[in-house]
Amino acid sequence: MSYCLYCHQSYSETWSWSALFGVNADPLLCQSCMAKLELIKGDICRICSRSFSLFPEQYRQGDCCYDCIRWEEDEKWKRMLQQNRSLYVYNDFLKEIIAKMKYRGDAELLKAFYPLARSKFNNITRESLLVPIPLSEERQYERGFNQAEIFAKSFTSNVQHLLKRVTHEEKQSKKTRKDRMVKKNNPFIVNDEDVVKDKTILLIDDVYTTGSTLRYAAKVLKEAGADRISSITLAR
Ligand SMILES: [Zn+2]
Ligand SMILES: [Zn+2]
Repeated sequence: MSYCLYCHQSYSETWSWSALFGVNADPLLCQSCMAKLELIKGDICRICSRSFSLFPEQYRQGDCCYDCIRWEEDEKWKRMLQQNRSLYVYNDFLKEIIAKMKYRGDAELLKAFYPLARSKFNNITRESLLVPIPLSEERQYERGFNQAEIFAKSFTSNVQHLLKRVTHEEKQSKKTRKDRMVKKNNPFIVNDEDVVKDKTILLIDDVYTTGSTLRYAAKVLKEAGADRISSITLAR
């Protein structure tokens, strides 16, 4: 007998990942919690991996959703993010799980997502530098962990901390006047530009909502000389 990491009910191990997805690992969640998660599958947006079955036809053009088309039509953001791939739909249940993780410091829950994430994204993660989206120092201190970093480490121990998230005040004091104007809204700076140059980078975060956090991160990395930038998130 095992206990569900989320609801703490006991569940029998007679069901398993292998039966569901061909993944050989303890599921860590009970069947009823697993049933509330919606795996992203079928027809998806080529760029952000939003599931086309979840929104009306008129918000889609070809193989892209309208949000992505708007990003790609903007010269400033075009091709900034090659693609995002996500595991689950960001539904109410996953919102609850992620909120619990963040605000109650319950990072253990992330482990329930490792086996499937590894098996699905193995080929994408192998050839890139994995860079978690950082929290600000203040937030990281409050929470005690960065869920994006923990998620990234489920793929490789060689996680690169190439980004720093700065507060508005820090930026004002550290930047030149030109930088202040150009990067006014961008919370990220690159830690080590030498490592970034010509690299294929895979950003890791917990959720893709509007896509702007990932694109801001991609922008500073591109400006530092990175070649291609994609991303993986737990939820979309
Ligand atoms: Zn459960
Ligand atoms: Zn899209």
